[in-house]
Amino acid sequence: MARRGRISSRQRAAGEAARRAAAAVRLAEGRPPRPRQYAAAATATLEAQAPAQVQLPAPAREVRAPEAAPAPAPAAGLSALSTCAAGCPLCAGSAEEFHALRAASLAQRERLGDAARYPYAAAKTALHRRDCREVRQAVEAVEGDDSPALRGALTGYAHEGTVDARWGTPMRLLEAGEAAQWVRENTGPRGGARYRLCRVCTPELP
Ligand SMILES: [Zn+2]
Ligand SMILES: [Zn+2]
Repeated sequence: MARRGRISSRQRAAGEAARRAAAAVRLAEGRPPRPRQYAAAATATLEAQAPAQVQLPAPAREVRAPEAAPAPAPAAGLSALSTCAAGCPLCAGSAEEFHALRAASLAQRERLGDAARYPYAAAKTALHRRDCREVRQAVEAVEGDDSPALRGALTGYAHEGTVDARWGTPMRLLEAGEAAQWVRENTGPRGGARYRLCRVCTPELP
């Protein structure tokens, strides 16, 4: 019986993930992104550049006891990042995506320091020069792992789709080649731009 309950929880989590994936598709099609929706889209574009993703347990075939912990690495993070009861299926189902977004956000801080290598940045549908104040503000706002903002961050992300600027950003510093690729990916089949050039920093096309 307990097993049946867990499965339906997992199905709910899967539904949640599907809902977010659909939101990502809407975003990719150029709908104006709402602040809380960018996470899924940002994560999707990140998959290629996040080689070491946190391993989550496969949907539990063997979970019997409620206290059975997920894989060791996420379990350590879950205790602080999730304020839900241990084993919350929604939090567990979003943990990998959350950690990927978090790692990518932190990585931008290092990229911000390498002006020569990363002349561009992009978030959502806007292309920037790397020294744009919008880029600096977004990336410098990302706090380290000791940030109080991280407490319960996974719960907010998994249950509400919340991304706090203090731990996550959609801004990505880009090499010139990456920026050119980004422009191609955001150009329609008939050449229509699905992006805009930031009016603050007015970048030239890569
Ligand atoms: Zn939860
Ligand atoms: Zn800009």
